[in-house]
Amino acid sequence: MTWREDILGNQSFRLRTAQTAQFYHVDTERRDMTRPSDLSVTIVDGYVDEPAHFGVPPYISTYPRFTAGALVDAGVAKSQITYHTIDELRDDRQKWRDVATADLMIYVGGMTVPGKYVGGTPAEPDEVRELAWVAEGVSVLGGPVRFGVGDENAGATETERQDLDYDFVAKGDIEAAAYDLVDSGLEGFSSRMRDNDELSRWAPGGAFIVEQHPNHPEYLICEMETSRGCAYRCSFCTEPLYGNPAFRTADAVVSEVGKLAEYGVQHFRIGRQADILAFGGDGEAPNTDALRRLYSGIREVAPDLKTLHLDNMNPITITKWPEESRECIRIIAEHNTAGDTAAFGLESADPLVQEENNLNVSAEECFEAVKIVNEEAGWRPGEAPSRAPTHGKEAANRLPKLLPGINLLHGLKAEREETYEHNREFLQRVYDEGLMLRRINIRQVMAFAGTDMSETGAQIAHEHTELFKSYKRDIREQIDQPMLERVAPAGTVLPDVHLEYHQDGRTFGRQLGTYPLLVGIPGERPLGSTIDAVIVDHGYRSVTAVPYPLDINSASMTELEALPGIGRQRAGDLIVNRPYETPDAIGGEVDLSAYVQTDRPEQFPNQ
Ligand code: SF4
Repeated sequence: MTWREDILGNQSFRLRTAQTAQFYHVDTERRDMTRPSDLSVTIVDGYVDEPAHFGVPPYISTYPRFTAGALVDAGVAKSQITYHTIDELRDDRQKWRDVATADLMIYVGGMTVPGKYVGGTPAEPDEVRELAWVAEGVSVLGGPVRFGVGDENAGATETERQDLDYDFVAKGDIEAAAYDLVDSGLEGFSSRMRDNDELSRWAPGGAFIVEQHPNHPEYLICEMETSRGCAYRCSFCTEPLYGNPAFRTADAVVSEVGKLAEYGVQHFRIGRQADILAFGGDGEAPNTDALRRLYSGIREVAPDLKTLHLDNMNPITITKWPEESRECIRIIAEHNTAGDTAAFGLESADPLVQEENNLNVSAEECFEAVKIVNEEAGWRPGEAPSRAPTHGKEAANRLPKLLPGINLLHGLKAEREETYEHNREFLQRVYDEGLMLRRINIRQVMAFAGTDMSETGAQIAHEHTELFKSYKRDIREQIDQPMLERVAPAGTVLPDVHLEYHQDGRTFGRQLGTYPLLVGIPGERPLGSTIDAVIVDHGYRSVTAVPYPLDINSASMTELEALPGIGRQRAGDLIVNRPYETPDAIGGEVDLSAYVQTDRPEQFPNQ
């Protein structure tokens, strides 16, 4: 039996443990006294990170939303459905009562790509197990956790599938399992995938759950699904385990966005797909009409949205269908908000690694795709699109509308020392030719059963650990920082930076969106608040910024010192000579007009 058959096979399994014995007892009693409308359900979100799906705060993935919709469709009252994130449960032990007392506890989570996160900490296997032990009712485990569990969510690890002491593991879709389980009086379910008709009911029907997210409403971004599965079969990737792409209709996605907007969501990322350019087509080729319906429809039902970003664009689509892709990229740049990123899975610029791992795009093709995205979408709000790509002194003071990101993966089959050189040369070429990348993501492989990499495992990644570390450091210093200065030069304004934590006398925050810049602001500002900021300096992958516009008459010493060209001495002089009637009255050789204003700037159009 293949892994995929195993995942999607018709056998759900129930654990034969002491826990299960207890469950049977509870189950029998409960079934007599509960109908779907009386059932209480607690959904616990342990967060997800998959190649084409993200759900770590401030993101909420589709899993808890679709599951809530399925429960309602099966007859559970909305008022009986409780949603908690794993971080909420860590912070407040009282909330474990909702886990313990629910008739049905559903855990969703799982990491199939490695990562470190600012906004939340994914559930550890021991925590997931504890949830099952605490739950007195029926417990179900679902989401990408079914693909496997590693010791930690890090690269160069191998994973194995575990049941973590749950009564049931949903080997198909957790939302379908939730529906069937409730429908069967908590008897059981056959593992299956949901169909599009069900999704068109469950997606809008579960939108209400976002109100229970701790980040709701201001600091929450909904990951939107347009399709699952992939037409390609890269050796390391779990996405093909979902099969060939199955697209939702534009109307279905738009109606879900409309419902989420009714529940106060203002930030959206179209991130749950392998390739946004393939939306509504045959699985590979673009369909410009469908993409336009999707983007314009979203703008119609959520006219006040603040973020509309995407994730995942396949560079091979651009090189195979350049004209259609250019049109699609123009449509996206017309409707999205600035600072958007099209993540390209180049994975390796080494032709041997490409060949051995069935990677679908060559370095040359990827370079061509980088150029096309720069030409069509590398303009900034306030500029004519025909000027793209813009950078340097003439560029507007905003982030570009859409830029490519590059994903590089190490530890793949046939990786050798030259692989690192190929990757380095590719990135240097992009920089040298005046193009922009919004981000470079360098990771080591996680090996999952069911993928071709399961045979190789993490062995190559382990062998190359030292090489990997020094190469990564070089890329950060030699490519990332100059690229960041090109994409977001000093003077670039970042609206709505959410302040998240304090460190070393500074406040760090990010905008909502896809791969947002980490922004460090001098001084300790109230957390949880939002400010507009202007960039004054660059780290390797982060920026220093001050509030925008900076009020020169009340700015702190550290804020003034952070301005380009202003040292400690001049900052002190500026303070001594306060107040200033106008920015012009500041005088001096350094032009501060990009940072200091007397009036609040206009509302940021098309941000
Ligand atoms: S193109 Fe490759 S890496 Fe991207 S989703 Fe498809 S199989 Fe995964």
